[in-house]
Amino acid sequence: MAGCRMKLELSRVVQGSGRLGVLKDLGKTGQHSLEVPGCLLHTHLGTVPHLTRDTLQTLSNLPAVTQVTLSNIAEHQEVLEEFKDGFRRFAGLHNTVLYCSLHDPATPCPTGYTTNKTVSVWGSGGRIELTVARFMALQKTVQPDWYQSMADGETWQSGTSRKRVRKSVDRTLAHLDECLLAHQNSQELEGVEVFGVVEGGDILEERVRSGRETAKRPVAGFCLDGLQTGSMHQALRTQLIAAVTEELPEDKPRLLQGVGRPDEVLACVEAGVDLFEGFFPSQVTERGCALCFGFGISSDPELAVLELAEEKEASGETQHNGDSNPADQSRMTSFEIDLKDKRYKDDFRPLVEGCGCYCCVNHQRAYLHHLLVTNELLARVLLMIHNTAHYQAFFRALREALANDKLDVLKRRVLKEMTD
Ligand SMILES: [Zn+2]
Repeated sequence: MAGCRMKLELSRVVQGSGRLGVLKDLGKTGQHSLEVPGCLLHTHLGTVPHLTRDTLQTLSNLPAVTQVTLSNIAEHQEVLEEFKDGFRRFAGLHNTVLYCSLHDPATPCPTGYTTNKTVSVWGSGGRIELTVARFMALQKTVQPDWYQSMADGETWQSGTSRKRVRKSVDRTLAHLDECLLAHQNSQELEGVEVFGVVEGGDILEERVRSGRETAKRPVAGFCLDGLQTGSMHQALRTQLIAAVTEELPEDKPRLLQGVGRPDEVLACVEAGVDLFEGFFPSQVTERGCALCFGFGISSDPELAVLELAEEKEASGETQHNGDSNPADQSRMTSFEIDLKDKRYKDDFRPLVEGCGCYCCVNHQRAYLHHLLVTNELLARVLLMIHNTAHYQAFFRALREALANDKLDVLKRRVLKEMTD
């Protein structure tokens, strides 16, 4: 495909402990890059929840790739067609690589609505049924840099029959071929990259078949679908991912959908995943919580401060009422603290000692508690700033650990958060 200029340069590949590298020459102008393992910037209609562009930019080192979803955008198709200049300009995004996925990972969508010819997405106004023709018409109005090909992903529920899983793999390949054909015949989509979707439910052979067949197509990267938190246990997920990545070319990125919890991220990186959808901080923010798990393992002064803070908290301050029950994504996890809790009423420490984000530099837990209790919108703004910063710092620590052969140390540290 004419537009395949994106390059994945891997600096380390260690079997069973992940890939470290940089995705280069991204976007139509080729001026962006993204380090892997890494995550995308999750948005709702192009906006990071609660944050204006200015507020977001108080954070440094944000991902160069912004994710938008057709489930949000589809209902605005006519407006976008009238606007003509693409979604990036419509949402005032300017300088970013735009990735358009089908569904929003933070909002589970109802199942039972795929057919041989259509998939459905759910926006604020309800269900929108997409044929490949409508899907491709939408991509032409969105004008992303990358998009996820149309896919039948409704096989993540446990107990899905083998026949149904096989059908989803076949349908997804047929959708991909149709998308690629329309793509190649479209001038508007010149230079745009397509990500093929790997399905296969929890059936190993179907996963492998889906990976192998998708890899034969001229796609720029792969989305691993149907492995989201809640759909299966980590051990099975790791096994399926490792089997699929065996089938995929080394030089194309693998994006895992629907997984964001730090412990799961680490396990999936070890299985060969490069990219994650960065929706986890949004979910934590929505329940009024703050990420405060420790991940400092190095002598880097910035991380050492975080480490120290974590040590202090381990001495009894942190509440661990979080539940790691993977079945419910809306439940609090053990990586966060609930600022609505009375214990933070007179806690004058920042959310995380040593965190350089706007919230931690300027405010204390007690103030956040007050904002949450009085239902001020500012609470979510400040939490989102911190949670985004903390999550990005976790990915930096993860890359550093990979570079220094310390992934096992980081893993122990993060898993400790779940058992303390
Ligand atoms: Zn902070």
